[in-house]
Amino acid sequence: MGDPTTGSGRTLADHFRRLIAATGPISLARFMGESNARYYAGKDPLGAAGDFITAPEISQMFGELAGLWLADIWTRTGRPDGAFYAELGPGRGTLARDALRAMGRVGLEPPVHLVEGSPALAALQRQAVPQARFPADLAEVPMEGPILLLANEFLDALPVRQLVKTGPGWREVMVALDDSGQFTLVAGGLPMDAAVPEARRGAEDGTVIETCPAAAAIVAEVAGRLARQGGAALFIDYGHTAARTGSTLQAIRAHTKVDPLALPGEADLTAHVDFATLAEIASAHGARWLGTVEQGAWLRALGLEARAEALARAAPDQREAIGRAVERLAGAEQMGRLFKVMALVGPGWPGGAGFPAP
Ligand code: SAH
Repeated sequence: MGDPTTGSGRTLADHFRRLIAATGPISLARFMGESNARYYAGKDPLGAAGDFITAPEISQMFGELAGLWLADIWTRTGRPDGAFYAELGPGRGTLARDALRAMGRVGLEPPVHLVEGSPALAALQRQAVPQARFPADLAEVPMEGPILLLANEFLDALPVRQLVKTGPGWREVMVALDDSGQFTLVAGGLPMDAAVPEARRGAEDGTVIETCPAAAAIVAEVAGRLARQGGAALFIDYGHTAARTGSTLQAIRAHTKVDPLALPGEADLTAHVDFATLAEIASAHGARWLGTVEQGAWLRALGLEARAEALARAAPDQREAIGRAVERLAGAEQMGRLFKVMALVGPGWPGGAGFPAP
C-alpha cells in the first residue's frame, strides 16, 4: 500500500519538520495540500481494505442514477451534439463506468475526460473506462461542446485555509512544532483581517473561519464553462448549505478518525464543503444553480427504490445486500443527510430531477 517516503527516503512528516525548523510555521492549507497529494499519489485508499468507502463503491445504483440524471437533462435539451463527459477525482473509475453504462442505455455515448492527480488511481480508471482521456487538469478539458460533469467526494479533499480571531486581530492558522517535536496549530504572525468578510470580523476571540480557495477556483471554472459551452454538473460531497464557523478538518485512516496532524501523507485529510459559498460563486460566474439538496432525498427522487427492486429481482440472493446499500446511501443517519448534491447547468438548460429549480 502507501509509501509515505519521498524519493530520498524521507517521510513527509520529516520533510515538514525540517521545513518548519528552518523557516518557521507553514500554513495549514499547505500542510493539507501536500499531505493529500502524497496520500493519493501512490495508492488506492478506497474500499473495505483501504481507508474509506465512497457512494459509488457502495453500489452501482449511485453511478447509474447520476448518469441518468445527466442523460435526462441532455435529452430534454434536445440531445445537443458534441457533449462530453468529464469527472473530477474519479477514484477507481467506478462512478464513471456506472454512469456511462446508464447513459449508453438512453443513447448517450460521450467522449470521456477524467481529471485525476494520482497516477495510481489513473491506472485503475484506465481499466474501468478504457476509452477515457486523462487531461492534466480542468483547463485541458475541451473548451467546446456541452460539458456533463460529475465530482463525487473531490472538493472535500482540497486544502482549506483557516483564519482565527485573536486579540490583535485575524490570523492564518499555521502548523508549528511543539517542544516535543509534534505538529501543533498556532496563529500566524501576519494580520489577515482583510481576508475576512466585514460582517464577520467582529467575531469573538478563538473563532475559526474555514475557506477553500481551491474549491472556489474549480467551481468558478466549471460555472464559466457551463455558461460558455452549456451542460450540467453535479458536485456531491459532505458539507453544509449555510455559512458556519469552526474547523471541520478531519483525517480518516482505516475507516477511523485520527489526529489530522499526526501522520501527514498517510491519512486522508478532508473538510466539509461550504456549499453556500460555492453556489454564490457559481451564479456569479454565469451558471444556473438548480439547488443543493440532501443525497438521500435526491436518490429517492431519482427512483433509488425502484432501481433497487429491479436489481433484487434479477439477483434474489443479493436482495439483503442491496437493501443495506440503499440504507447506507440514503438513510438519514448514514450518508443521506450529511451528503449534499449541488447541481449547476448552463443558461437555457432545463432543471434536473430532484432539484427545486424549474
Ligand atoms: N470520486 C471517487 C474518489 C473520491 S477520493 C469516489 O467517489 O469514489 C478523491 C479523489 O480526488 C481521488 O481520485 C483523488 O486522487 C482525487 N484528488 C484529490 N485531490 C486532487 C487534486 N488536487 N487534483 C486532482 N485530483 C485530486
